[in-house]
Amino acid sequence: MDSKLQVLYSAQQIEQRVTELGKQIDADYKDEPLVVVGVLKGSFLFMADLVRAIKKDVRCDFLRVSSYENDKSSGVVRMDFDLTQSIEGDNLLLIEDIVDTGRTLAFLKEHLHGKKPKSLKVCSLLYKDIGIDNRHLADYVGFEIPNHFVVGYGLDSEGLYRSLPYIGYFPR
Ligand code: 5GP
Repeated sequence: MDSKLQVLYSAQQIEQRVTELGKQIDADYKDEPLVVVGVLKGSFLFMADLVRAIKKDVRCDFLRVSSYENDKSSGVVRMDFDLTQSIEGDNLLLIEDIVDTGRTLAFLKEHLHGKKPKSLKVCSLLYKDIGIDNRHLADYVGFEIPNHFVVGYGLDSEGLYRSLPYIGYFPR
């Protein structure tokens, strides 16, 4: 582990919270069919754990967007690749790694609403409080965090740290 990297949430804390989220999602959707869509790349570990914490069977799909270049938001969200199956009439649960400015989620919600799902909810592993009132963008949030740049458990810094089992940050 990088000596400057501080643990924000341990693997055990993440596992416990993901289990809770899975139970809540099962309780909310009951017998309704569900399509879980992961936003690559950052959500891949969270999605893998979350779909196993959700006890009902779900369909899985992925899309990929990019907006960050060298850890700095470029401000422009770009669709790198889209869903491969129709979601018209489906209950959609979008899985994000983190809500920061909310630009990515706002873009994705508008884009996905255009595909006419029956419902669209968002589950984000993290919500970063940067003083903007955009908490409403996510229906389920794993952890609300202060304004740190975080890595691990899927989140990267210039392509590295994604495979860490915990979420960490570099103190300023
Ligand atoms: P937003 O559009 O909400 O500003 O940013 C969303 C995307 O930016 C996230 O999906 C993630 O890829 C990236 N991002 C935002 N904050 C962080 C952070 O603290 N750490 C990492 N690794 N990525 C972040």
